[in-house]
Amino acid sequence: MVPRTRFAPSPTGSLHVGGARTALYCWLYAKKGGGQFVLRIEDTDQVRSTDAATRGIVRDLRWLGLTWDEGPEVGGPFGPYLQSERLDTYGPVVASLVASGHAYEAWETREELAALREAGGGVGFVYRRRALSDEQIAAFKAEGRTPVVRLAVPDRQFVVQDAILGEVVVHGSEMEDLVIQKADGFPTYHLAVVVDDQLMGITQVLRGQEHLKNTHKHEAIAEALGWTLPRVGHLPLIFNPQGQKMSKREKARTARAAGKKAGVAVLAEKTGLSVGALTPFLNNETDAIPIAEAIAAALGVDLPMIEVMDFRRAGYLPEALLNYLALLGWSPGGDRELLSLDAMVELFSLDRVGNTSARFDPEKLRWMNGEYVKLLPFERIAAAARSWLEVCEGSPLAALSSDALDGLLRLFAGRYVTFSDLERQARPLLTRPKEWDKAARDKHLRKGDGAATLARVAEVLAAAPSWDAASLEAHVTVWSEAAGLGLGKIAQPLRVALTGTAVTPPIFDTLAYVGRDETALRISALLAAEAAG
Ligand code: GLU
Repeated sequence: MVPRTRFAPSPTGSLHVGGARTALYCWLYAKKGGGQFVLRIEDTDQVRSTDAATRGIVRDLRWLGLTWDEGPEVGGPFGPYLQSERLDTYGPVVASLVASGHAYEAWETREELAALREAGGGVGFVYRRRALSDEQIAAFKAEGRTPVVRLAVPDRQFVVQDAILGEVVVHGSEMEDLVIQKADGFPTYHLAVVVDDQLMGITQVLRGQEHLKNTHKHEAIAEALGWTLPRVGHLPLIFNPQGQKMSKREKARTARAAGKKAGVAVLAEKTGLSVGALTPFLNNETDAIPIAEAIAAALGVDLPMIEVMDFRRAGYLPEALLNYLALLGWSPGGDRELLSLDAMVELFSLDRVGNTSARFDPEKLRWMNGEYVKLLPFERIAAAARSWLEVCEGSPLAALSSDALDGLLRLFAGRYVTFSDLERQARPLLTRPKEWDKAARDKHLRKGDGAATLARVAEVLAAAPSWDAASLEAHVTVWSEAAGLGLGKIAQPLRVALTGTAVTPPIFDTLAYVGRDETALRISALLAAEAAG
């Protein structure tokens, strides 16, 4: 059977690394079998779903390179791929379930139902609901109530053969008569997921373990419709290094702790948010990520990285993130760790997906990113850097010309792990130093005759016939050998002049990058400061 998998995110926020891992495994599974990977947006929760979140998920998946064969912006024979555009599909299915007696309109509130169920001894209850008299229904309607539609869950065992966890059994009596259509006419997630997996020909469902117990509900719906569910597999949970479930709430927790310390008045002033907006957040009533991010930015606190965009902004490569996520629950066997997407496709199998939780190790990811920075061809790194700059506001690198950016990437090659590292290291080079590191200045300018040497170097450089690393090196070496000066004596004062610090990439590369005029200006500025004492 040609595999068809789907990634089916609910667009209630941006893409979490756990979601990205699910998408990756679905993608690998489909590609391995020469099949298709479908993207379906599950926006049946109209209150929590947003278009912005859908766009964000699409953007993040594209950045990762997990392209879909069918889905939003691509189309396909079984679309549309947004559930909110498929209401015409779900309505008749719900109606058929009501007509066949597998589902019923429920007028009671959740609380009333619970009480009735208790009084009626459980499962036989559903059949009694169908016996509501016309008068009772009229009375509910008169109160202005609208019904939901519930599935009458039979009182027997539901057995699911999970591809990762093995057999999982749940008894019908442990399930409520689940809602399949809400009062607003929208299907619930449970109904829509079963209908879409069936109509879209999905053969294998892979998703996070938090959905395990939902599978039995889906089994009940599928059986009522005379369908067979696709095979399912539930992926292990991801924990953070502290051993807690890696969730977006961590961001709120971190920002809240810092925010409480600062106090609401200070916070309002620094964030520009009102006390009315901040108070519910500080009181644990909402975990809104935009508020968490505003607080973190105002207080200079680092939030934990949880979402794909966090890693993109921090300057990670999608290749490294994907590789890392692949190993978070799956093992290719042997001790291979660096795997291209092609290699992963070749090696992937569900037998090697573990059933115990995985621990996210940021250090390991960092190491892996460093390996990819070394491994990938320059053109790819250059493209990735541009893609990083698109999402990184206020970086001084954004102002560089294309050539200058490429030059910087070459200059710092082998010295950075992420593009944020690169930015931190390059910053001093990009702007004329306003001050100079005191220790470096003492050591390299003031002790001995550093300042005098720098003045002579300035003259030598001014006479350089051309301004590239190789000819600068040749030109300066002729002079330094004649003058009996070691390269260190020349390079260190120069570094302080160029960047305000004693640490730069190789000195002639650095000079070449900064340019002739700018080098002269920076040396004069430091010499003037020295002369002024
Ligand atoms: N819409 C569900 C979620 O985002 C997906 C569940 C599934 O894959 O069946 O959690």
